Amino acid sequence: MTSTKRDAGNGVDPRIAGGELIIDLDALKANYRALAQASHPARTAGVVKANAYGLGSDVVVPALLSEGCRDFFVAMPEEGLIVRQYADDARIFVLAGLVSEDVARLYAALDLTPVLNSLEDVAIWSDFCATIGEQRPCALHVDTGMTRLGLTVPEALALAENESRRGALNIVLVMSHLACADEPEHPLNQRQLESFQRVRDAFPHIDSSLASSAGIFLGDDFHQSLTRPGIALYIGLPDAASQKPVVTLKARVVQVRAASAGEGVSYGSAVLVRDSILAVASVGYADGYLRAGSGAGVPLRGVEAAGGGGFLHGRHVPVVGRVTMDLTIFDVTDVGVDRVQVGDQIELIGENIPIERVAKAAGTIPYEILTSLGSRYHRRIIGAA
Ligand SMILES: *Cc1c(COP(=O)(O)O)cnc(C)c1O
Repeated sequence: MTSTKRDAGNGVDPRIAGGELIIDLDALKANYRALAQASHPARTAGVVKANAYGLGSDVVVPALLSEGCRDFFVAMPEEGLIVRQYADDARIFVLAGLVSEDVARLYAALDLTPVLNSLEDVAIWSDFCATIGEQRPCALHVDTGMTRLGLTVPEALALAENESRRGALNIVLVMSHLACADEPEHPLNQRQLESFQRVRDAFPHIDSSLASSAGIFLGDDFHQSLTRPGIALYIGLPDAASQKPVVTLKARVVQVRAASAGEGVSYGSAVLVRDSILAVASVGYADGYLRAGSGAGVPLRGVEAAGGGGFLHGRHVPVVGRVTMDLTIFDVTDVGVDRVQVGDQIELIGENIPIERVAKAAGTIPYEILTSLGSRYHRRIIGAA
C-alpha cells in the first residue's frame, strides 16, 4: 500500500505549533476492515460524532467511504451537515432526535435521518411527513436498559401494533444501545439483547442495530444487521496490540532547564526530589492534555499515582508538577542533558505511549482524551486517503 504524506491544512503553522497531531489513515482503514470482518454478514457503520472523536470528519469520512462504509452516525445535525459534504450518497443518522417540526424540516433539508428517541419525536416526525406529503426515512431508538434515550420497550411494541401510527412512518432502522458491553460477563448484556429481539421481531424486514465497538465482540447475536463502532475505529480493536496507532500526538520542547533537588515546579510548587533536567513542552490543558494527568505527588486526583508521561529518545519521561493551560514540564533527566534540545518532540500518545495509559493517568477513558484534543496542534495526515 502506498503511503503518501501531505499537509491536511488545519491552518496551524507547523513551525510554531505547540504540538503535532498525526492521523494515520491506513491504520484507520485497517481498523474499519477488521471491524467489518468481525461484524460480517452485518454491515458496519462508522460513528463519527464529535468531529470523528476529535480526529476530523474531513479526513475520517472519506477514508471510511473508501472502505465501503455507507452508514454514518453523528450526534448533532450540524455534524451531519459536515459529513454530508464528504458523503453524497451515504445514510447519515443523527442521534440527537427532534425537538420541533422546525428541526424536522432542517433534517429533511440536509437529507439527514433522525433517530427518534421518544413518542414526542415520533409524533413530530409523523406530523412533519404528513405536512410535506412524503414519508421520509427515520430510525427508531428503543431503550432496553441504558436508561438514557429511546422509547420504552412497551412503547415500541405498542407502536408496532398500531397500524395507522406505524404506517405514518418510514422506519429504516430499529436500534438500541448497550450499557455494559465492555463487561462481557455482565448479565445486562443478555437481558438487553432479549428485549431488543422482541422489539426487532415486532418490526420485521427493517434493519436492526445494537452493537457499538465493544458490543461487536459479545457474539454474533449482537451484530443484528448493522453494527455501530466508534472508538475502535480510532484506537483499534481490543486484542490487536501490535497494530499501528491511528493517533500520534507530539509536543514541542520550548525550553530545557536544569533544576536542583528541593526546587519547586509549576503551579503549587511540586518539590523536586533530585537534581533534574526539565523539558518544558508547549502543550497544556487548553489543548486537551488534561490537568488531571499532572505529575506524581500532585494532590489533584485519585488516579494512577505515577501521573502522566511522554516518550523521548527511547525513554519514558514523566510529567513533573501540574499541567498548565499551555505548557507542561517533563522530567528528562534520564534521557541526558546532551540529548534533549529545544525543538525536540515528546510523544504524548502513540506507539510508545498507548492512549489507554494516557487516559488512566488522568482518571478517564480514551474517548475523553480524543474528544478533548484541542485545535492548536498542527494536524498531519499520513496514509492513503
Ligand atoms: C457513541 C455511540 C456509539 C459508538 O460507541 P463506541 O463505544 O465509540 O463504539 C454507538 N451508538 C450510540 C448510540 C452512541 O451514542
